[in-house]
Amino acid sequence: MNAEAKQDSTSLVDKHGRRVDYVRLSVTDRCDFRCVYCMSEEMTFLPRNQVLSLEEIFRVAKSFTELGVDKIRLTGGEPLVRKNVMSLVEKIGALPGLKELLLTTNGSQLEKLATPLRDAGVNRINISLDSLDADSFHKMTRTGKLDKVQRGIEAAVAAGFDAIRLNTVILRGRNEHEILDLLEYAMGLGINIAYIEEMPLGDVSDHERLDTMVTNEEVRDIISERYSLDPIDMTTAGPSRYYRIDSHATKVGFISPISHNFCETCNRVRVTVEGRLLLCLGNEHSMDLRKVLRDNPGNDDVLKTHIIEAMDLKPLQHNFYDKDQPQLVRFMNMTGG
Ligand code: SAM
Ligand code: SF4
Repeated sequence: MNAEAKQDSTSLVDKHGRRVDYVRLSVTDRCDFRCVYCMSEEMTFLPRNQVLSLEEIFRVAKSFTELGVDKIRLTGGEPLVRKNVMSLVEKIGALPGLKELLLTTNGSQLEKLATPLRDAGVNRINISLDSLDADSFHKMTRTGKLDKVQRGIEAAVAAGFDAIRLNTVILRGRNEHEILDLLEYAMGLGINIAYIEEMPLGDVSDHERLDTMVTNEEVRDIISERYSLDPIDMTTAGPSRYYRIDSHATKVGFISPISHNFCETCNRVRVTVEGRLLLCLGNEHSMDLRKVLRDNPGNDDVLKTHIIEAMDLKPLQHNFYDKDQPQLVRFMNMTGG
């Protein structure tokens, strides 16, 4: 199919027949934390002129929704530390055609922003939490304060989002003994929790990844010793598998982008804060939308044509840990988690 023919259909389909209806937009590469699995201690962030302005990010979001995308996730870096981010959230939240606006955050700003985010149209929110011990939380995030994040989580619960999910990365030797405590914390609040396997994105210098990775199978075994896990059938969950726990409201997810291959149903793409459209989390296939945005101010038709053309670059599958492929040099904060 040529680009114009696809544009008429107002939906994005790649050359493997997969429809793309979900976009993750990174609104900043910066963060107030330095989580050991995500960043190195000394990070250099992008110079301002390489970063999309809020207006440019909005043009990208609007164009995608006009091409049939109905689900957008805002992420980063820490999205809520970007100056004036609420003005962007409000504008994206008002886009016709958008069914779901989602946010991934470390929770540090939620105490004050949970209600404004809900009012701006954010439906669901993921909050990262790796430990319930203040000292170990501080060590894993290098800068984070647990009590502030917990107040943020409570504010999010009070704000009444459609769903809240804790995102937890378990690392051997750091927090594997907290698997059940974190689950029970989520159960106590009536929210969901997902355990994420550590992904090999960027050289984080803190540890050798293959030594610290705890597989989701191990996590599931530990939980199963105390609770029965009933699988929930969710076709749109991407790399996640969800389970219900006995009669509790809490759903437990396991995100295994490496050990489970979800690629054949992949419906998502990412846009970095530099305006690089990434077609796959585990590959470098991309298109530079920043140049298109800046060369064509006020003309989103050209932008949309490029987005449609980029779909042909979407690879069939990722190749994490393929020894014949170079290791990805992108950090997670650059990729947009
Ligand atoms: N700052 C926000 C946060 O922490 O939720 C949003 C961005 S962060 C990059 C998104 C998610 O990616 C977080 O849940 C974090 O735990 C996860 N993450 C970061 N680096 C990772 C890695 N190397 N492997 C697996 N998950 C990672
Ligand atoms: Fe920041 Fe999120 Fe990365 Fe932690 S995981 S350093 S909070 S971007």
